[in-house]
Amino acid sequence: EPAIAIRDLTKRYAGEKGEPGKLALDGVSFDVPQGQIFGLLGPNGAGKSTLINILAGLVRKTGGSAEIWGFDIDRNPRNAKRMIGIVPQEIVFDPFFTPFEVLENQGGFYGIGKRDRRSEELLAAVHLADKRDAYARTLSGGMKRRLLIAKAMVHSPPILVLDEPTAGVDVELRRQLWELVTDLNRRGVTVVLTTHYLEEAEQLCDRIAIINRGKLIANKPTRELVGMA
Ligand code: ADP
Ligand code: ADP
Repeated sequence: EPAIAIRDLTKRYAGEKGEPGKLALDGVSFDVPQGQIFGLLGPNGAGKSTLINILAGLVRKTGGSAEIWGFDIDRNPRNAKRMIGIVPQEIVFDPFFTPFEVLENQGGFYGIGKRDRRSEELLAAVHLADKRDAYARTLSGGMKRRLLIAKAMVHSPPILVLDEPTAGVDVELRRQLWELVTDLNRRGVTVVLTTHYLEEAEQLCDRIAIINRGKLIANKPTRELVGMA
C-alpha cells in the first residue's frame, strides 16, 4: 500500500462573480511509496502548495481523490489527517511561548495525555533541547523551522510533509534541514517535500514528481530523472 495515493486530483479556485477561477490542479495522479523521500518539484504557481493544502485538509479539492495511509480524505478526514504532519511554509508561533510549550500545546490539541507526550524527545531530535524554555521570539529563523518540524511530529505521524522547507534560507541552514529530514526518514518516516530547487530534489529525494501549470509532467526515481538531463 502506498503512503499517499492521489488520483485525478483537480482544483479550480472560485473566480470573481461566478466566473471560473484558476485551475491550479488538472487531473494529477501519483503514489508516494512508503519509506521514501518524495520530492514534488515545480516552478512558482505550479500547484504544489494547493496539493499540500488539500492533503492537510485546508483546501477543498474539486475533483478526484486522495488517500493517506489508506484513509480517504473525504470519507475519513480525521484518520487521514492523523497520518500526516504538515510543516507549513509560513512560520507562525506565539512569540511568548517556549518551544516546550509549543509542543505541549500541540500534544494537548491532539488529545495526547501529559505522560504520553514526547516533547523533550522531540526537542532533542531537532537539536533544540537547550532552547526548551526560551521565548519563541528569541529563536533564530533556523531554530523556528526546526521547531515547526518537531511540532508536525507531535502526533507521531508516519508521513511528514514539508512545503518549501528551504525557501529563502542560507546554505548552512539548508544543510541542517536536509540532515534533519534524512534523519527522520532513516527512523522510518515517509517524507514528502515541495521545492523549486532541482538541486535540492536531486540531493535529497528517492523519487521526484514534476508538476507544471497544474499537470504532472514526470514521476521517476531520482537517478533515472538525473540520467535523462
Ligand atoms: P505553488 O505552490 O507551486 O507555487 P500554488 O498551489 O500556490 O503553486 O498556486 C497554483 C495556482 O493557483 C497559482 O496560479 C496561484 O495563483 C493560484 N492560487 C493559489 N491559491 C489561490 C487562491 N486561494 N485563490 C485563487 N487562486 C489561487
Ligand atoms: P482541526 O482539525 O480541528 O480543524 P486545525 O486544522 O484548525 O484543526 O489545526 C489546529 C492547530 O493544529 C493548528 O496550529 C494547526 O497548525 C495544527 N495542525 C493541524 N493539523 C496538523 C498536522 N497534520 N500537522 C501539524 N500541525 C497540524
